[in-house]
Amino acid sequence: MATRKERLSPIQPQKVSIPSATISRLVTYLRILTTLEEQGINRTSSEDLAEEAQVSAFQVRKDLAYFGRFGTRGMGYTVLTLRRELRRILGLNRRWNAVIVGMGRLGQAIADFPGFSDYDFELRGLFDVDPDKIGMQIKGISIQHVDDLERVVREQNVDMGFITVPVEKAQDAANMLVAAGVKGILNFAPTVLEVPDDVAVEPVDFLAGMKRLAFYILNPNLKNAVEEAAV
Ligand code: NAD
Repeated sequence: MATRKERLSPIQPQKVSIPSATISRLVTYLRILTTLEEQGINRTSSEDLAEEAQVSAFQVRKDLAYFGRFGTRGMGYTVLTLRRELRRILGLNRRWNAVIVGMGRLGQAIADFPGFSDYDFELRGLFDVDPDKIGMQIKGISIQHVDDLERVVREQNVDMGFITVPVEKAQDAANMLVAAGVKGILNFAPTVLEVPDDVAVEPVDFLAGMKRLAFYILNPNLKNAVEEAAV
C-alpha cells in the first residue's frame, strides 16, 4: 500500500518537457490496458498497444520512456504492472474532488453522467447564480449559490472545477475557483482563461473538434503529418 506522501507526489519525469500529445496517448494506453485486464490478458507489447492506439510501436516506447523503464526487452509488459504505473503517472491512484460552476444544460448533463462514479472523481459541489436552480438536487447534491464556492472548496478539499457558465462569465468563474484554491480547471466555455502558472486548465470544446474534423475531412492526407509534428 502506497503511503500518502507517495500517492500525492507528482511524478519525476526523466525529461522536463513532455508533449501534451504524450499525456493524451497515456490516457489511451491506460484504457487499452484496462480492457486487456478485463479480458484476462496478462502480457502485452509496444506493438500490440501501438496497433490498438493506432500509433507506431516507436511512439509507444518513446511516450513511456519519458517516465522511466517499463517492461522487459523482448518480453513486453505485464498488463497489471504497466496499468498500475500509468495510473500512478496520471495521478489516478487517488480520489479527485471536483465541483461544477454553471448548472445549466451542460452542467446538469455532466453532473447526471451515470459513469462518473466509475472513475475516482467525486463531485463535491454544484454551483450557479440562478435563484430558480439553487436548492435543486442532482444525484443527491444540492445546487448552491457561487457565494458558497470558496467555503465548499476548502471544506471538501476540492482539487478541480468544471466551468460550464456562459462564455462571458467564464473568467469570473475561473477567478473564483482560483481564489478558492482549486488547482485544475476543465473549461467548457469557448474562451482562453487567464490563470496563475500553478493552475492547470484543460479546454474541452466540441465545436473546435467539429472545425478540426471539417479540416481533416477536406484534407485527409494532412492528418498524419499534423499528428507527427505534435509529438
Ligand atoms: P446554459 O445557459 O444552459 O447554462 C449556463 C448556466 O450558468 C446557467 O444555469 C446560469 O445561471 C449559470 N451562470 C451564469 N453565470 C454564472 C456565474 N457567474 N456563476 C455560476 N453560474 C453562472 O448554458 P449551456 O448550454 O449549459 O452552456 C454552458 C457553457 O458551456 C457555455 O459557455 C457554452 O458555450 C459551453 N458549451 C461547451 C460545450 C463544449 O463542448 N465544450 C458544449 C456545449 C456548451
